[in-house]
Amino acid sequence: MQQTITKYTMNKPYRDILATIGNTPIIRINKLAPEGVNLFVKLESFNPMGSVKDRMALSTIEAAEASGELKPGQTVIEATSGNTGIGLAMVCAVKGYPLVVTMAESFSLERRKILRFLGAKVVLTPAELKGSGMLAKAVELAEEHGWFLVRQFENEANADAHTRTTAEEILAAFSGEQLDYFVTGFGTGGTLKGTSRVLKARSPATKIIVCEPDNAQLLGSGIPQAREADGSPAESHPNFRPHLVQGWSPDFIPKLTEDAMGAGTVDQVLPISGEKALDFTRTLARREGIFCGVSGGATFTAAMEIAQDAPRGSNILCMLPDTGERYLSTPLFDDIVVEMSEEELEISRSTPNYRFDAAKTGKETSPAPDEEAVELDKDALAFFKRVTNDAAQPIVLFALEWCEFCWSVRKLFAQLEIPYLAVDLDSVKYQEDNLGGKIRAVLLDQIGSPTIPQIFVGGRHIGGATDLFATYSDGSLGKMLSEHDIAMKEMPEDFEPVSLLPGWLHKR
Ligand code: PMP
Repeated sequence: MQQTITKYTMNKPYRDILATIGNTPIIRINKLAPEGVNLFVKLESFNPMGSVKDRMALSTIEAAEASGELKPGQTVIEATSGNTGIGLAMVCAVKGYPLVVTMAESFSLERRKILRFLGAKVVLTPAELKGSGMLAKAVELAEEHGWFLVRQFENEANADAHTRTTAEEILAAFSGEQLDYFVTGFGTGGTLKGTSRVLKARSPATKIIVCEPDNAQLLGSGIPQAREADGSPAESHPNFRPHLVQGWSPDFIPKLTEDAMGAGTVDQVLPISGEKALDFTRTLARREGIFCGVSGGATFTAAMEIAQDAPRGSNILCMLPDTGERYLSTPLFDDIVVEMSEEELEISRSTPNYRFDAAKTGKETSPAPDEEAVELDKDALAFFKRVTNDAAQPIVLFALEWCEFCWSVRKLFAQLEIPYLAVDLDSVKYQEDNLGGKIRAVLLDQIGSPTIPQIFVGGRHIGGATDLFATYSDGSLGKMLSEHDIAMKEMPEDFEPVSLLPGWLHKR
């Protein structure tokens, strides 16, 4: 049967990206579920920024707009392990609020980059100060600058998002059937509080299962959390230990989580092994094609444990809060290598050509143009002479836009903060009348080398990328530049320009 598209049922364009938040799919687990049990996952990576936190990001900002707490153009700030910040960054981008995120340096690097890509500022806090450290920094900055602090751990609009959306989606998906178990972890407890109160009221037979890391059992310990008057934690919980499940259990029991526990809506607290969580994250990807983050694998581990003992015919739903792509730099990808494995090399060797272990076929630089095709052109020659002898712009780089060696040269110039003229021979600017090709033919004629890039300093031909790097390393570049009154930024002693070459080149 042909697949039909079912996620986006609206047949009109969406108002904006925020209108695509929520309505995430619930998917049956077919191979991994024990026989006779219906196991389902709710895939929050289908939210526009790839996590469950998009829901609360929109909800908290709109609640603050409605209450007047957030004014047009005011800066928003939050302490977040990433997903909340990424959701907020999207919402703030759409609505025009600057965003500052405080984040412990221990969270995955891709999160920082995504945040900055979306226009947010990221202020890192020391790993040893844990979740409370990044929170304290956010509070301090908000007070100092009069910024709007989201307070995801106490903000009712976080839980309300799940009451309005997640819970309703689940009830609709299981209408006419009984949902026997709802399994979730807690980061803020927004998902837990907001969803469980609706399920308990409108689907009382649904058991609510909350899981937490087995080496950091905060809820399981029964030890209460010390709290300030505003609900924020007064100190770290004594049972907190660093754990593998990013996004779960901060070093305190959040107010929203405690509310859910206190309301008596939680039927069971399940400790989960971080190692098992990593395993199940991989297994879900490889057996079911479901690519989620570690907290999803951890929640799924709990769901599998529940499924083992559940009566036949039970319906179990587990939350998968985000996508695995957010964990490329974490232990989840530790066994995923970049190089070819023996098995992959064997596949490569099973046919004769295009092999890494056979004679090198790639050129170190881009190929030369067809020499016959272009005759020496006098305008191109004049151009070449003019740009390479311009006292006002002594450094000239003949480059191609797509060439990785050229990027390395550009990076070096950028890091040294030196001005230069780039003649991008393949760019639109030089396409008319094949001027780029004609200049390239002139280059070949003048220097006898067919490769790109070629660098000139004050009319003197330096050579290609590696030649330029050598002049940096032996100090002659600095001397040449000072002859032309160009200062070069001081670099650390151990700086090696070859580190700027494309990664694949280092390995051969
Ligand atoms: N998993 C991940 C990866 C998360 O980022 C979060 C939120 N911090 C959660 C789970 C928990 O969600 P909630 O805050 O709603 O409890």
